[in-house]
Amino acid sequence: MQYAYTYGDSRRLYLNVTNKCTNQCLFCVRFRAEGLGGAILWGDPEPDLRALQAAVETRGGPGHFREFIWCGFGEPTFRLDLMGEAAPWLRSGGAKIRLDTNGHACLIHGRDVLPELSQAVDELSVSLNAPNCRKYLKLCQPGIDSASMPGSGRRRPAPERFWEAVLDFLSRTPSLFLGVQASVVGFALTDEEIEECRALALYLGVKQFRVR
Ligand code: SF4
Repeated sequence: MQYAYTYGDSRRLYLNVTNKCTNQCLFCVRFRAEGLGGAILWGDPEPDLRALQAAVETRGGPGHFREFIWCGFGEPTFRLDLMGEAAPWLRSGGAKIRLDTNGHACLIHGRDVLPELSQAVDELSVSLNAPNCRKYLKLCQPGIDSASMPGSGRRRPAPERFWEAVLDFLSRTPSLFLGVQASVVGFALTDEEIEECRALALYLGVKQFRVR
């Protein structure tokens, strides 16, 4: 598993720190490839701060980049601990930090993690992916086993909870982050559904919308 990789822009570094995810999206690239941009993104172990720093230093160190992006082959907020620990060091050269997320962080951790996430990250790109719950469940197939959930004795959430979690997450982000974007995967939706997603994002207070 490679912890840091570039993809196109050489001053933008992507950070890949977990393969855990709460979705199994039908369109996810990780079910068709081992990695991106020549980097192998599947594998073990997940990095600690020291391992992540070593991977970034190998690429030129924090001062070399204008943006870091928590991304990769999994949902990065499973590693909220590492995101918080690494933030001051990643920002030490003046770079911004973006998170690409499916919006399930609060559900994963069983508490409101938005305040601490807003300290660790400057901008968000949130995968909305669908205009309604029925389509979301079909496209993203959300779920999580209890063993993967931080904390003990928590019950496995019903699938609908994941859709509700995305809406709740998105609706509370505009006041906490410098920039928030909602995104959808164009080929997975009809033109009409894409417009419904755009309208839903706006209704939730998110003005930036991207069709990937
Ligand atoms: S949320 Fe992202 S990483 Fe997870 S399955 Fe969907 S596209 Fe893949």
